[in-house]
Amino acid sequence: MPGTQFRTTTRHMLRESKTYASQTLMGGLSGFESPIGLDRRDRIVALKSGDIGFVHSWDINTSVDGPGTRMTVFMSGCPLRCQYCQNPDTWKMRDGKPVYLDAMISKVDRYKELFKATHGGITFSGGESMMQPAFVSRVFRAAKEMGVHTCLDTSGFLNTNYTDEMLDDIDLCLLDVKSGDEETYHKVTGGTLQPTIDFGRRLARAGKKIWVRFVLVPGLTDAEENVENVARICESFGDAVEHIDVLGFHQLGRPKWHEMRIPYPLEHQKGPSAALKKRVTEQFESHGFVVY
Ligand code: SF4
Repeated sequence: MPGTQFRTTTRHMLRESKTYASQTLMGGLSGFESPIGLDRRDRIVALKSGDIGFVHSWDINTSVDGPGTRMTVFMSGCPLRCQYCQNPDTWKMRDGKPVYLDAMISKVDRYKELFKATHGGITFSGGESMMQPAFVSRVFRAAKEMGVHTCLDTSGFLNTNYTDEMLDDIDLCLLDVKSGDEETYHKVTGGTLQPTIDFGRRLARAGKKIWVRFVLVPGLTDAEENVENVARICESFGDAVEHIDVLGFHQLGRPKWHEMRIPYPLEHQKGPSAALKKRVTEQFESHGFVVY
């Protein structure tokens, strides 16, 4: 999502564009050379080993995708099709740009002093960051060796893609719990909920920290029972959950659906009222969670 368009419509955060733009220093895929001369088979092998990753874009931001100043890398490819997706241009891996592992690690190295000074680090987002586990986990391993904080932004849907060993190098997970029961989850995303629950529990068992994200869409995810079920799922992660972000739906992503000529299911959807946001916040708080 190069340039300002990308930064105004990051999918998981659903933040106000001006806020996001003011926190962002760079965008696109500047600074990376693509591998050349790789045929299709070579690329598949390199993708599997993590020698290359397909990247949509990256940037440096502050207090958006984890603590401190962060390098956020948006990976290409996503198996879900969320009705409220802000970045449908990340859905297909082949639409991303192949980037060498070494180039990505060098980029982390270049900013490591900044990360340490601001208690920031590297975040992998997407698309779905767990779709390219070898690349992401090898960059995380290198980051940990440099003493850099690591954060995985994910739906957890590809839980089984991640080995326990790969989990070791994650400091924090921004975990989207998109709904609280299978039926609603499927309606919202086209996928299944259980892998997210399983991934959250694995993170908790491994002693990792979780920031839960829940996107509040009136008429889609706002039912009291749905919110209650999300809260119960979060409870099952125990002390791992540091807070829950309740993100109000907005329409900043609509132009991309139009540009890509994909029928947009939330064409006329409104964001939540202040009263609805208050009700949902209080529901989570009644379970003892800190809510932002
Ligand atoms: S999980 Fe995939 S489809 Fe859903 S919001 Fe994120 S990028 Fe879009």
